Amino acid sequence: MTQDLIAQPQASHFVAGRPLEDTSGTPLRVEYPHTGAPIAQLHEATPQVIDAALTAAREAQPEWAALRPVDRGRILAHAARIIRDRGEELARLETLDTGKPIQETREADWPSGADSLEYFAGLAPTVTGETIPLGADMAYTRREPLGVCVGIGAWNYPSQIACWKAAPALAMGNAMVFKPSELTPLGALRLAEIFLEAGMPPGVFNVVQGRGAVGAALVTDPRVDKVSLTGSVPTGRRVYTAAAEGMRHVTMELGGKSPLIVFDDATLEDAVGAAMLGNFYSSGQICSNGTRVFVQRGLKDAFLARLAERAATIRAGDPLDPETQFGPLISAAQTDKVRAYIAGASAEGARLVFGGMGEGRFVPPTAFAEVTDTMTLAREEVFGPVMAVLDFDTEDEVIARANATQFGLAAGVFTRDLARAHRVVAQLQAGTTWINAYNLTPVEMPFGGVKASGLGRENSRAAIEFYSQVKSVYLGLSPVESPY
Ligand code: NDP
Repeated sequence: MTQDLIAQPQASHFVAGRPLEDTSGTPLRVEYPHTGAPIAQLHEATPQVIDAALTAAREAQPEWAALRPVDRGRILAHAARIIRDRGEELARLETLDTGKPIQETREADWPSGADSLEYFAGLAPTVTGETIPLGADMAYTRREPLGVCVGIGAWNYPSQIACWKAAPALAMGNAMVFKPSELTPLGALRLAEIFLEAGMPPGVFNVVQGRGAVGAALVTDPRVDKVSLTGSVPTGRRVYTAAAEGMRHVTMELGGKSPLIVFDDATLEDAVGAAMLGNFYSSGQICSNGTRVFVQRGLKDAFLARLAERAATIRAGDPLDPETQFGPLISAAQTDKVRAYIAGASAEGARLVFGGMGEGRFVPPTAFAEVTDTMTLAREEVFGPVMAVLDFDTEDEVIARANATQFGLAAGVFTRDLARAHRVVAQLQAGTTWINAYNLTPVEMPFGGVKASGLGRENSRAAIEFYSQVKSVYLGLSPVESPY
Protein backbone atom coordinates (compact mmCIF):
# COMPACT_ATOMS: atom_id res chain seq x y z
CA MET A 1 0.00 0.00 0.00
CA THR A 2 1.25 3.49 -0.76
CA GLN A 3 1.99 4.80 2.71
CA ASP A 4 0.19 8.14 2.56
CA LEU A 5 -2.89 6.60 1.01
CA ILE A 6 -3.51 4.00 3.70
CA ALA A 7 -6.91 4.34 5.33
CA GLN A 8 -6.97 1.14 7.37
CA PRO A 9 -9.63 1.32 10.10
CA GLN A 10 -9.13 -0.33 13.49
CA ALA A 11 -11.39 -3.22 12.48
CA SER A 12 -13.83 -4.20 9.73
CA HIS A 13 -17.01 -3.76 11.74
CA PHE A 14 -18.32 -1.56 14.52
CA VAL A 15 -20.66 -3.32 16.90
CA ALA A 16 -21.95 -2.49 20.40
CA GLY A 17 -19.80 0.63 20.59
CA ARG A 18 -16.52 -1.08 19.64
CA PRO A 19 -14.50 -1.97 16.56
CA LEU A 20 -14.99 -5.68 15.88
CA GLU A 21 -12.85 -7.99 13.76
CA ASP A 22 -13.40 -11.53 12.59
CA THR A 23 -10.66 -12.51 10.18
CA SER A 24 -12.47 -15.69 9.23
CA GLY A 25 -14.77 -13.55 7.02
CA THR A 26 -13.99 -13.38 3.27
CA PRO A 27 -11.29 -10.73 2.68
CA LEU A 28 -12.42 -7.38 1.25
CA ARG A 29 -9.70 -5.39 -0.48
CA VAL A 30 -10.54 -1.68 -0.51
CA GLU A 31 -9.04 0.29 -3.41
CA TYR A 32 -8.41 3.93 -4.15
CA PRO A 33 -10.38 4.16 -7.42
CA HIS A 34 -7.90 6.61 -8.97
CA THR A 35 -5.01 4.13 -8.96
CA GLY A 36 -6.56 0.82 -8.00
CA ALA A 37 -4.01 0.68 -5.15
CA PRO A 38 -5.18 -0.99 -1.93
CA ILE A 39 -5.95 1.44 0.89
CA ALA A 40 -7.42 -0.98 3.43
CA GLN A 41 -7.94 -4.67 3.96
CA LEU A 42 -11.20 -5.73 5.62
CA HIS A 43 -13.24 -8.88 6.10
CA GLU A 44 -16.87 -9.56 5.32
CA ALA A 45 -19.17 -10.10 8.27
CA THR A 46 -19.52 -13.71 9.35
CA PRO A 47 -22.87 -14.96 10.69
CA GLN A 48 -21.45 -14.36 14.19
CA VAL A 49 -20.74 -10.70 13.42
CA ILE A 50 -24.21 -10.20 11.92
CA ASP A 51 -25.73 -11.84 15.00
CA ALA A 52 -23.68 -9.65 17.35
CA ALA A 53 -24.75 -6.49 15.51
CA LEU A 54 -28.45 -7.34 15.56
CA THR A 55 -28.28 -8.41 19.20
CA ALA A 56 -26.56 -5.14 20.13
CA ALA A 57 -29.14 -3.10 18.23
CA ARG A 58 -32.06 -4.96 19.80
CA GLU A 59 -30.65 -4.50 23.30
CA ALA A 60 -29.80 -0.84 22.89
CA GLN A 61 -33.03 0.27 21.18
CA PRO A 62 -35.53 0.37 24.09
CA GLU A 63 -33.35 2.59 26.28
CA TRP A 64 -32.52 4.85 23.35
CA ALA A 65 -36.23 5.18 22.56
CA ALA A 66 -36.97 5.97 26.21
CA LEU A 67 -34.76 9.08 26.16
CA ARG A 68 -36.42 12.43 25.71
CA PRO A 69 -36.34 13.34 22.01
CA VAL A 70 -34.39 16.49 22.85
CA ASP A 71 -31.69 14.34 24.44
CA ARG A 72 -31.42 12.11 21.37
CA GLY A 73 -31.35 15.23 19.22
CA ARG A 74 -28.50 16.72 21.26
CA ILE A 75 -26.33 13.69 20.50
CA LEU A 76 -27.11 13.87 16.77
CA ALA A 77 -26.32 17.60 16.75
CA HIS A 78 -23.05 16.93 18.57
CA ALA A 79 -22.12 14.36 15.90
CA ALA A 80 -22.86 16.95 13.20
CA ARG A 81 -20.53 19.41 14.95
CA ILE A 82 -17.72 16.84 15.02
CA ILE A 83 -18.25 16.18 11.29
CA ARG A 84 -18.01 19.90 10.51
CA ASP A 85 -14.92 20.34 12.70
CA ARG A 86 -13.15 17.47 10.89
CA GLY A 87 -14.35 18.45 7.43
CA GLU A 88 -10.98 18.27 5.73
CA GLU A 89 -9.97 14.89 7.16
CA LEU A 90 -13.36 13.38 6.34
CA ALA A 91 -13.35 14.79 2.81
CA ARG A 92 -10.01 13.13 2.21
CA LEU A 93 -11.30 9.80 3.52
CA GLU A 94 -14.35 10.05 1.26
CA THR A 95 -12.15 10.83 -1.74
CA LEU A 96 -9.96 7.81 -1.02
CA ASP A 97 -13.03 5.60 -0.62
CA THR A 98 -14.89 6.83 -3.73
CA GLY A 99 -12.33 8.48 -6.02
CA LYS A 100 -14.49 11.62 -6.18
CA PRO A 101 -12.66 14.95 -6.41
CA ILE A 102 -11.88 16.48 -3.04
CA GLN A 103 -13.53 19.65 -4.40
CA GLU A 104 -16.79 17.69 -4.27
CA THR A 105 -16.30 15.71 -1.08
CA ARG A 106 -15.49 18.92 0.83
CA GLU A 107 -18.76 20.50 -0.27
CA ALA A 108 -21.27 17.75 -0.81
CA ASP A 109 -20.76 14.46 0.95
CA TRP A 110 -20.14 14.72 4.71
CA PRO A 111 -21.52 18.29 4.85
CA SER A 112 -24.85 17.03 3.52
CA GLY A 113 -24.71 14.24 6.11
CA ALA A 114 -24.17 16.86 8.82
CA ASP A 115 -27.16 18.85 7.49
CA SER A 116 -29.28 15.77 7.90
CA LEU A 117 -28.13 15.16 11.49
CA GLU A 118 -28.77 18.80 12.39
CA TYR A 119 -32.19 18.80 10.77
CA PHE A 120 -33.45 15.63 12.48
CA ALA A 121 -31.83 16.63 15.77
CA GLY A 122 -34.06 19.70 15.76
CA LEU A 123 -37.10 17.90 14.41
CA ALA A 124 -37.09 15.02 16.94
CA PRO A 125 -38.65 16.99 19.83
CA THR A 126 -41.36 18.46 17.59
CA VAL A 127 -42.89 15.12 16.62
CA THR A 128 -46.12 14.75 18.53
CA GLY A 129 -49.36 12.79 18.30
CA GLU A 130 -52.92 14.05 17.96
CA THR A 131 -55.83 14.13 20.34
CA ILE A 132 -59.12 13.01 18.88
CA PRO A 133 -62.37 14.11 20.57
CA LEU A 134 -64.97 11.33 20.68
CA GLY A 135 -67.88 12.82 22.62
CA ALA A 136 -67.61 11.62 26.19
CA ASP A 137 -64.50 9.60 25.35
CA MET A 138 -61.36 10.55 23.49
CA ALA A 139 -58.41 9.02 21.72
CA TYR A 140 -54.85 10.09 21.17
CA THR A 141 -51.99 8.88 19.00
CA ARG A 142 -48.38 8.22 19.81
CA ARG A 143 -45.71 8.15 17.16
CA GLU A 144 -43.42 5.26 18.11
CA PRO A 145 -40.18 3.92 16.67
CA LEU A 146 -40.19 0.80 14.49
CA GLY A 147 -37.38 -0.92 16.39
CA VAL A 148 -34.27 -2.12 14.56
CA CYS A 149 -33.69 -0.63 11.10
CA VAL A 150 -31.23 -2.03 8.58
CA GLY A 151 -29.59 0.49 6.24
CA ILE A 152 -27.91 -0.73 3.05
CA GLY A 153 -25.93 1.76 1.00
CA ALA A 154 -24.67 2.26 -2.54
CA TRP A 155 -21.11 3.34 -3.34
CA ASN A 156 -21.69 6.74 -4.89
CA TYR A 157 -22.42 8.77 -1.72
CA PRO A 158 -21.45 6.36 1.04
CA SER A 159 -21.23 8.74 4.00
CA GLN A 160 -24.16 10.89 2.92
CA ILE A 161 -26.32 7.78 2.52
CA ALA A 162 -25.30 6.50 5.98
CA CYS A 163 -26.23 9.87 7.54
CA TRP A 164 -29.45 10.28 5.54
CA LYS A 165 -30.65 6.91 6.83
CA ALA A 166 -29.27 7.11 10.37
CA ALA A 167 -30.44 10.65 11.17
CA PRO A 168 -34.23 10.16 10.88
CA ALA A 169 -34.05 6.56 12.15
CA LEU A 170 -32.11 7.42 15.29
CA ALA A 171 -33.98 10.69 15.88
CA MET A 172 -37.19 8.67 16.13
CA GLY A 173 -35.71 6.23 18.66
CA ASN A 174 -34.79 3.32 16.40
CA ALA A 175 -31.45 1.49 16.43
CA MET A 176 -29.63 0.74 13.17
CA VAL A 177 -27.37 -1.83 11.61
CA PHE A 178 -25.80 -0.32 8.49
CA LYS A 179 -24.11 -2.22 5.67
CA PRO A 180 -22.15 -0.02 3.28
CA SER A 181 -21.37 -1.07 -0.28
CA GLU A 182 -18.42 -3.43 -0.32
CA LEU A 183 -16.65 -0.90 -2.58
CA THR A 184 -16.87 2.00 -0.09
CA PRO A 185 -16.83 0.64 3.46
CA LEU A 186 -14.86 3.36 5.27
CA GLY A 187 -17.18 6.35 5.80
CA ALA A 188 -19.88 4.48 7.73
CA LEU A 189 -17.26 3.07 10.12
CA ARG A 190 -16.07 6.60 10.79
CA LEU A 191 -19.66 7.72 11.38
CA ALA A 192 -20.06 4.98 14.02
CA GLU A 193 -16.96 6.28 15.85
CA ILE A 194 -18.25 9.85 15.66
CA PHE A 195 -21.64 8.86 17.09
CA LEU A 196 -19.94 7.16 20.02
CA GLU A 197 -17.75 10.20 20.63
CA ALA A 198 -20.87 12.39 20.54
CA GLY A 199 -22.36 10.37 23.39
CA MET A 200 -24.53 7.82 21.64
CA PRO A 201 -25.04 4.66 23.70
CA PRO A 202 -23.23 1.57 22.35
CA GLY A 203 -25.34 -0.57 20.04
CA VAL A 204 -27.58 2.20 18.73
CA PHE A 205 -25.63 2.44 15.45
CA ASN A 206 -23.66 -0.57 14.21
CA VAL A 207 -21.78 -1.18 10.96
CA VAL A 208 -21.15 -4.54 9.32
CA GLN A 209 -19.26 -5.07 6.08
CA GLY A 210 -19.93 -7.39 3.22
CA ARG A 211 -21.26 -8.02 -0.24
CA GLY A 212 -24.88 -8.60 -1.17
CA ALA A 213 -25.14 -11.85 0.81
CA VAL A 214 -24.52 -9.99 4.08
CA GLY A 215 -27.26 -7.52 3.12
CA ALA A 216 -29.57 -10.42 2.30
CA ALA A 217 -28.90 -12.05 5.69
CA LEU A 218 -29.79 -8.80 7.46
CA VAL A 219 -32.97 -8.27 5.47
CA THR A 220 -34.40 -11.69 6.36
CA ASP A 221 -33.51 -11.70 10.07
CA PRO A 222 -36.60 -11.77 12.30
CA ARG A 223 -35.07 -9.17 14.63
CA VAL A 224 -35.28 -6.54 11.89
CA ASP A 225 -38.30 -4.23 11.64
CA LYS A 226 -37.36 -2.07 8.67
CA VAL A 227 -35.01 -2.03 5.71
CA SER A 228 -33.86 1.12 3.94
CA LEU A 229 -31.92 0.48 0.74
CA THR A 230 -30.14 2.80 -1.65
CA GLY A 231 -29.18 0.81 -4.71
CA SER A 232 -30.21 -0.36 -8.15
CA VAL A 233 -33.71 -1.43 -9.21
CA PRO A 234 -32.83 -5.16 -9.50
CA THR A 235 -31.38 -5.18 -5.96
CA GLY A 236 -34.39 -3.19 -4.78
CA ARG A 237 -36.75 -5.84 -6.15
CA ARG A 238 -34.85 -8.60 -4.32
CA VAL A 239 -34.69 -6.72 -1.04
CA TYR A 240 -38.34 -5.61 -1.17
CA THR A 241 -39.44 -9.18 -1.86
CA ALA A 242 -37.36 -10.53 1.02
CA ALA A 243 -38.63 -7.83 3.38
CA ALA A 244 -42.24 -8.53 2.42
CA GLU A 245 -41.92 -12.09 3.66
CA GLY A 246 -41.43 -10.78 7.20
CA MET A 247 -43.91 -7.88 6.69
CA ARG A 248 -41.07 -5.42 7.28
CA HIS A 249 -41.27 -1.73 6.48
CA VAL A 250 -39.12 -0.56 3.57
CA THR A 251 -37.65 2.57 2.05
CA MET A 252 -36.30 2.01 -1.47
CA GLU A 253 -34.11 4.68 -3.04
CA LEU A 254 -33.35 3.16 -6.42
CA GLY A 255 -32.08 4.09 -9.86
CA GLY A 256 -33.41 6.38 -12.56
CA LYS A 257 -33.28 7.58 -16.16
CA SER A 258 -34.58 11.02 -15.40
CA PRO A 259 -35.71 13.53 -18.03
CA LEU A 260 -34.34 17.07 -18.09
CA ILE A 261 -36.55 19.09 -20.43
CA VAL A 262 -35.19 22.27 -21.99
CA PHE A 263 -37.70 24.48 -23.81
CA ASP A 264 -36.68 26.96 -26.51
CA ASP A 265 -37.22 29.90 -24.16
CA ALA A 266 -34.91 28.56 -21.42
CA THR A 267 -31.93 30.61 -20.24
CA LEU A 268 -29.25 28.79 -22.22
CA GLU A 269 -26.40 29.14 -19.70
CA ASP A 270 -28.55 27.84 -16.86
CA ALA A 271 -29.89 24.91 -18.86
CA VAL A 272 -26.42 23.91 -20.06
CA GLY A 273 -24.96 24.30 -16.56
CA ALA A 274 -27.71 22.16 -15.04
CA ALA A 275 -27.37 19.48 -17.71
CA MET A 276 -23.64 19.31 -16.98
CA LEU A 277 -24.19 19.14 -13.22
CA GLY A 278 -26.85 16.50 -13.76
CA ASN A 279 -24.58 14.30 -15.90
CA PHE A 280 -20.95 14.93 -15.01
CA TYR A 281 -20.81 15.69 -11.25
CA SER A 282 -19.39 12.68 -9.37
CA SER A 283 -18.45 11.40 -12.84
CA GLY A 284 -22.13 10.83 -13.50
CA GLN A 285 -22.57 8.34 -10.65
CA ILE A 286 -25.72 9.96 -9.23
CA CYS A 287 -29.10 8.25 -9.14
CA SER A 288 -31.16 11.37 -9.85
CA ASN A 289 -29.11 12.49 -12.86
CA GLY A 290 -31.01 14.00 -15.79
CA THR A 291 -29.57 11.56 -18.28
CA ARG A 292 -32.26 12.08 -20.92
CA VAL A 293 -31.85 15.71 -21.89
CA PHE A 294 -34.80 16.66 -24.11
CA VAL A 295 -33.96 19.88 -25.98
CA GLN A 296 -36.63 21.66 -28.01
CA ARG A 297 -35.58 21.80 -31.63
CA GLY A 298 -35.17 25.57 -31.87
CA LEU A 299 -32.50 25.62 -29.15
CA LYS A 300 -30.72 22.40 -30.07
CA ASP A 301 -27.74 23.76 -32.03
CA ALA A 302 -26.98 26.53 -29.56
CA PHE A 303 -27.36 24.09 -26.65
CA LEU A 304 -24.96 21.51 -28.10
CA ALA A 305 -22.41 24.15 -29.10
CA ARG A 306 -22.33 25.76 -25.65
CA LEU A 307 -22.34 22.35 -23.94
CA ALA A 308 -19.28 21.23 -25.90
CA GLU A 309 -17.52 24.54 -25.19
CA ARG A 310 -18.08 24.32 -21.45
CA ALA A 311 -17.38 20.59 -21.18
CA ALA A 312 -13.97 21.18 -22.76
CA THR A 313 -12.96 23.22 -19.70
CA ILE A 314 -13.63 20.41 -17.16
CA ARG A 315 -10.38 19.49 -15.40
CA ALA A 316 -9.97 15.74 -14.91
CA GLY A 317 -7.16 14.42 -12.76
CA ASP A 318 -5.99 13.20 -9.38
CA PRO A 319 -9.03 13.43 -7.09
CA LEU A 320 -6.86 14.59 -4.17
CA ASP A 321 -5.71 17.65 -6.15
CA PRO A 322 -7.99 20.55 -5.16
CA GLU A 323 -7.99 21.79 -8.77
CA THR A 324 -9.45 18.53 -10.08
CA GLN A 325 -13.12 18.70 -11.05
CA PHE A 326 -13.64 15.25 -12.48
CA GLY A 327 -12.42 11.89 -11.19
CA PRO A 328 -12.40 8.24 -12.15
CA LEU A 329 -15.30 5.82 -11.93
CA ILE A 330 -15.64 3.68 -8.83
CA SER A 331 -14.25 0.41 -10.23
CA ALA A 332 -12.88 -1.36 -13.27
CA ALA A 333 -16.18 -3.22 -13.63
CA GLN A 334 -18.17 0.04 -13.65
CA THR A 335 -15.76 1.49 -16.23
CA ASP A 336 -16.31 -1.51 -18.51
CA LYS A 337 -20.07 -1.17 -18.12
CA VAL A 338 -20.05 2.53 -19.01
CA ARG A 339 -17.78 1.96 -22.04
CA ALA A 340 -20.12 -0.76 -23.28
CA TYR A 341 -22.97 1.79 -23.24
CA ILE A 342 -20.82 4.29 -25.17
CA ALA A 343 -19.93 1.68 -27.81
CA GLY A 344 -23.58 0.63 -27.98
CA ALA A 345 -24.84 4.19 -28.45
CA SER A 346 -22.56 4.70 -31.45
CA ALA A 347 -23.55 1.32 -32.88
CA GLU A 348 -27.24 2.20 -32.52
CA GLY A 349 -26.75 5.43 -34.50
CA ALA A 350 -26.45 8.17 -31.87
CA ARG A 351 -24.00 10.95 -32.77
CA LEU A 352 -21.02 11.40 -30.42
CA VAL A 353 -20.71 15.14 -29.74
CA PHE A 354 -17.71 14.91 -27.40
CA GLY A 355 -16.02 12.47 -25.05
CA GLY A 356 -15.66 8.75 -25.62
CA MET A 357 -13.92 5.80 -24.06
CA GLY A 358 -11.10 7.44 -22.08
CA GLU A 359 -8.32 5.48 -20.42
CA GLY A 360 -7.91 3.34 -17.33
CA ARG A 361 -10.59 4.18 -14.75
CA PHE A 362 -11.40 7.51 -16.47
CA VAL A 363 -14.30 7.90 -18.84
CA PRO A 364 -14.42 11.57 -19.93
CA PRO A 365 -17.56 13.71 -19.91
CA THR A 366 -19.42 12.38 -22.94
CA ALA A 367 -22.50 13.53 -24.84
CA PHE A 368 -24.51 11.95 -27.62
CA ALA A 369 -27.01 13.82 -29.80
CA GLU A 370 -29.82 12.50 -32.00
CA VAL A 371 -30.60 9.89 -29.38
CA THR A 372 -34.03 8.33 -29.92
CA ASP A 373 -36.39 6.86 -27.32
CA THR A 374 -35.79 3.27 -28.34
CA MET A 375 -32.00 3.36 -28.10
CA THR A 376 -30.48 1.55 -25.12
CA LEU A 377 -28.85 4.80 -24.01
CA ALA A 378 -32.31 6.35 -23.59
CA ARG A 379 -33.76 3.42 -21.67
CA GLU A 380 -31.13 2.08 -19.26
CA GLU A 381 -29.32 3.67 -16.34
CA VAL A 382 -25.62 4.01 -17.21
CA PHE A 383 -24.33 5.44 -13.91
CA GLY A 384 -21.45 7.19 -15.62
CA PRO A 385 -20.76 10.57 -17.33
CA VAL A 386 -22.78 9.92 -20.47
CA MET A 387 -25.44 12.45 -21.50
CA ALA A 388 -28.10 11.57 -24.05
CA VAL A 389 -29.56 14.57 -25.90
CA LEU A 390 -32.95 13.98 -27.52
CA ASP A 391 -34.88 16.41 -29.76
CA PHE A 392 -38.52 17.35 -29.27
CA ASP A 393 -41.11 19.71 -30.77
CA THR A 394 -44.15 20.08 -28.50
CA GLU A 395 -44.99 20.15 -24.81
CA ASP A 396 -47.47 17.25 -24.96
CA GLU A 397 -45.02 15.16 -26.93
CA VAL A 398 -42.15 15.66 -24.49
CA ILE A 399 -44.30 14.90 -21.44
CA ALA A 400 -45.45 11.61 -22.95
CA ARG A 401 -41.92 10.65 -23.94
CA ALA A 402 -40.43 11.69 -20.58
CA ASN A 403 -42.93 9.44 -18.79
CA ALA A 404 -42.45 6.43 -21.07
CA THR A 405 -40.04 4.64 -18.73
CA GLN A 406 -40.18 2.23 -15.80
CA PHE A 407 -38.25 4.77 -13.71
CA GLY A 408 -39.64 7.79 -11.84
CA LEU A 409 -36.95 9.18 -9.58
CA ALA A 410 -36.49 12.76 -10.76
CA ALA A 411 -37.20 15.26 -13.54
CA GLY A 412 -36.31 18.83 -14.45
CA VAL A 413 -37.81 21.58 -16.61
CA PHE A 414 -36.06 24.68 -17.94
CA THR A 415 -38.26 27.46 -19.30
CA ARG A 416 -38.89 31.14 -18.62
CA ASP A 417 -42.64 30.52 -18.89
CA LEU A 418 -43.52 29.68 -15.29
CA ALA A 419 -47.11 28.67 -16.06
CA ARG A 420 -45.74 26.09 -18.45
CA ALA A 421 -43.12 24.96 -15.92
CA HIS A 422 -45.74 24.19 -13.26
CA ARG A 423 -48.07 22.59 -15.80
CA VAL A 424 -45.31 20.28 -17.03
CA VAL A 425 -43.91 19.19 -13.64
CA ALA A 426 -47.45 18.41 -12.49
CA GLN A 427 -47.67 15.84 -15.31
CA LEU A 428 -44.22 14.30 -14.93
CA GLN A 429 -44.13 10.92 -13.21
CA ALA A 430 -41.27 11.52 -10.80
CA GLY A 431 -40.85 11.80 -7.03
CA THR A 432 -38.46 14.76 -7.09
CA THR A 433 -38.65 17.55 -9.67
CA TRP A 434 -36.91 20.85 -10.32
CA ILE A 435 -37.89 24.00 -12.21
CA ASN A 436 -34.92 25.95 -13.55
CA ALA A 437 -32.53 23.99 -11.29
CA TYR A 438 -31.28 20.43 -11.17
CA ASN A 439 -30.04 17.87 -8.63
CA LEU A 440 -30.29 20.11 -5.59
CA THR A 441 -31.37 17.95 -2.65
CA PRO A 442 -31.55 20.13 0.46
CA VAL A 443 -32.47 18.26 3.63
CA GLU A 444 -35.60 20.40 4.00
CA MET A 445 -37.11 18.90 0.81
CA PRO A 446 -38.43 15.32 0.49
CA PHE A 447 -36.35 13.12 -1.81
CA GLY A 448 -37.37 9.84 -3.40
CA GLY A 449 -38.90 8.12 -6.37
CA VAL A 450 -42.10 6.73 -7.84
CA LYS A 451 -42.67 3.72 -10.13
CA ALA A 452 -39.64 1.38 -10.19
CA SER A 453 -37.40 4.08 -8.69
CA GLY A 454 -38.62 3.39 -5.20
CA LEU A 455 -40.86 3.86 -2.22
CA GLY A 456 -40.71 6.16 0.75
CA ARG A 457 -38.97 9.50 1.12
CA GLU A 458 -35.69 10.56 2.65
CA ASN A 459 -34.98 14.00 4.13
CA SER A 460 -37.54 16.52 5.41
CA ARG A 461 -40.44 15.95 7.77
CA ALA A 462 -41.68 13.28 5.33
CA ALA A 463 -38.87 10.90 6.37
CA ILE A 464 -40.30 10.69 9.88
CA GLU A 465 -43.27 8.76 8.46
CA PHE A 466 -40.94 6.04 7.25
CA TYR A 467 -39.05 5.53 10.52
CA SER A 468 -41.98 5.49 12.93
CA GLN A 469 -45.46 4.10 13.32
CA VAL A 470 -48.65 5.44 14.83
CA LYS A 471 -50.23 3.84 17.88
CA SER A 472 -53.83 4.74 18.66
CA VAL A 473 -54.90 4.96 22.28
CA TYR A 474 -58.65 4.99 22.97
CA LEU A 475 -59.43 6.48 26.33
CA GLY A 476 -62.70 5.31 27.83
CA LEU A 477 -64.03 8.06 30.08
CA SER A 478 -67.66 6.91 30.26
CA PRO A 479 -69.38 3.70 31.42
CA VAL A 480 -68.78 0.71 29.13
CA GLU A 481 -71.88 -0.06 27.06
CA SER A 482 -72.20 -3.79 26.49
CA PRO A 483 -75.14 -5.73 25.01
CA TYR A 484 -74.25 -8.75 27.15
P1 NDP B 1 -26.49 -2.24 -5.93
O1 NDP B 1 -27.95 -2.35 -6.11
O2 NDP B 1 -25.61 -3.16 -6.65
O3 NDP B 1 -26.13 -2.40 -4.37
C1 NDP B 1 -26.71 -1.60 -3.36
C2 NDP B 1 -26.41 -2.21 -2.01
O4 NDP B 1 -27.18 -3.40 -1.83
C3 NDP B 1 -24.96 -2.62 -1.83
O5 NDP B 1 -24.58 -2.38 -0.49
C4 NDP B 1 -25.02 -4.10 -2.14
O6 NDP B 1 -23.92 -4.79 -1.63
C5 NDP B 1 -26.32 -4.48 -1.50
N1 NDP B 1 -26.92 -5.70 -1.98
C6 NDP B 1 -26.74 -6.34 -3.17
N2 NDP B 1 -27.52 -7.43 -3.25
C7 NDP B 1 -28.25 -7.50 -2.11
C8 NDP B 1 -29.25 -8.39 -1.60
N3 NDP B 1 -29.69 -9.44 -2.30
N4 NDP B 1 -29.77 -8.14 -0.38
C9 NDP B 1 -29.37 -7.07 0.34
N5 NDP B 1 -28.42 -6.20 -0.09
C10 NDP B 1 -27.87 -6.41 -1.29
O7 NDP B 1 -26.17 -0.73 -6.24
P2 NDP B 1 -24.73 -0.04 -6.39
O8 NDP B 1 -23.98 -0.10 -5.12
O9 NDP B 1 -24.13 -0.57 -7.64
O10 NDP B 1 -25.16 1.48 -6.58
C11 NDP B 1 -25.59 1.98 -7.79
C12 NDP B 1 -27.10 2.02 -7.87
O11 NDP B 1 -27.65 2.72 -6.76
C13 NDP B 1 -27.59 2.74 -9.08
O12 NDP B 1 -28.61 2.02 -9.73
C14 NDP B 1 -28.18 4.03 -8.54
O13 NDP B 1 -29.18 4.58 -9.30
C15 NDP B 1 -28.63 3.63 -7.19
N6 NDP B 1 -28.66 4.78 -6.32
C16 NDP B 1 -29.87 5.31 -5.93
C17 NDP B 1 -29.93 6.43 -5.15
C18 NDP B 1 -31.24 6.97 -4.70
O14 NDP B 1 -31.29 7.63 -3.68
N7 NDP B 1 -32.34 6.74 -5.39
C19 NDP B 1 -28.72 7.11 -4.70
C20 NDP B 1 -27.51 6.46 -5.12
C21 NDP B 1 -27.50 5.35 -5.90
P3 NDP B 1 -22.54 -4.85 -2.48
O15 NDP B 1 -22.55 -3.76 -3.48
O16 NDP B 1 -21.51 -4.72 -1.46
O17 NDP B 1 -22.62 -6.18 -3.16
